[in-house]
Amino acid sequence: MHHRYLEELRQRGYRITPQREIIIQAVADSTAHLTAEDVLKLIRPRSEAINIATIYRTLEMLVEEGLVIRSDLGQGQAVYAPQQHGPHIHLVCRHCGEVIAADHTMADSLQEQIRARYHFEADFTHITIFGLCAQCQSQEK
Ligand SMILES: [Zn+2]
Ligand SMILES: [Zn+2]
Repeated sequence: MHHRYLEELRQRGYRITPQREIIIQAVADSTAHLTAEDVLKLIRPRSEAINIATIYRTLEMLVEEGLVIRSDLGQGQAVYAPQQHGPHIHLVCRHCGEVIAADHTMADSLQEQIRARYHFEADFTHITIFGLCAQCQSQEK
């Protein structure tokens, strides 16, 4: 998967340094969400020279190019996931932190309404909705 990412970035005029390549490989070949810290841990064995600032910059570049999706799962740190991770809606319990992956097609009608009303192409491939899970609701009662 990361070869396609590298090729697309080169075609768009990005210069891919060896450090960037290692970072891109780690996130592009992942199927899960990764924080910048997770990426750092993953690549540590391969390169000691890469720092967290370089990782953030590279991840943000991938987000800007639409290759990686940035989300907030309520952990205080953004999580990054490659395109192939989605689409799904994350239902995150604000109390216990449980994450449920829900069917993204439920967002279709909302996307339709936003398009019609604001001419805005909403990106619903990987969105987060915060709330309370069934178990925490019963505990609150
Ligand atoms: Zn809960
Ligand atoms: Zn996800």
